[in-house]
Amino acid sequence: MSTVDDETETNHEAQALFASAHALVQELIEEGVSEFPRLSDLELPSKPDVTISDRAAPVAIADIPAPSTDASPDEVPWGDQRPRLEEVEQHLGDCKRCDLCSGRRSIVFGDGNPNADLMFIGEGPGEQEDLRGLPFVGRAGELLTQMIEKGIGIPRSEVYICNIVKCRPPRNRNPLPPEVSACRPFLDGQIRAVAPKVIVTLGKPAASLLLGRDVAITRERGTWQSYQGIPLMPTLHPAYVLRQYTTETRRAVWQDLKAAIERTRQ
Ligand code: URA
Repeated sequence: MSTVDDETETNHEAQALFASAHALVQELIEEGVSEFPRLSDLELPSKPDVTISDRAAPVAIADIPAPSTDASPDEVPWGDQRPRLEEVEQHLGDCKRCDLCSGRRSIVFGDGNPNADLMFIGEGPGEQEDLRGLPFVGRAGELLTQMIEKGIGIPRSEVYICNIVKCRPPRNRNPLPPEVSACRPFLDGQIRAVAPKVIVTLGKPAASLLLGRDVAITRERGTWQSYQGIPLMPTLHPAYVLRQYTTETRRAVWQDLKAAIERTRQ
């Protein structure tokens, strides 16, 4: 028998899926796409030659409203001091602060060098990440790792990587505002703990969240921004790059990452 709670959850999920589709269409419009062929007119290959993403639904391009203010410092034990990453993770604990806890296999806290100069922030764990407890280890993650190691020429273990939410949203839908808000103090704790020289946000949601406004990612990628005094470079999400696997898209991300690493060396 379905309960009011089930119905509310289904409504939230339907809204989130609709928001994902809406954000994807918005992105394509930003890209200059003005019309779509009818499905029946498409010549679909019997076997796709590119696997586009490790996610079932349109990925990572959400329109998450940023909270109006940062988490108040007295909500976290470190207050306005610089915590250690372990302290942040310990405070996160076996988190039950939002509904994402019910469907997760792991909390995907973060990965990499706790003193990294360069910090990458994505949206939320997908299936592989949830299984392995590490961020960016699915197909999008493989591309990110390649871009870091082959593109900018440093080992992945030298940077720090995390997401705006630490638990996988069901069916890879976009995280809902209460989920993003519940995780925000931990993301801010991670940024404070790592104190990177440069932040790279991957995709629209991470950029929009940290900049506190709706970021048109395909227009604003590659432009320097700032988060709490830290230079921030918004770039495209690797899952988007997999979907739009063109020389232009790959070159754009490569340029952004090159600018980011150069900035860490200034
Ligand atoms: N996409 C994300 O935004 N984060 C991950 O960890 C994996 C895929």
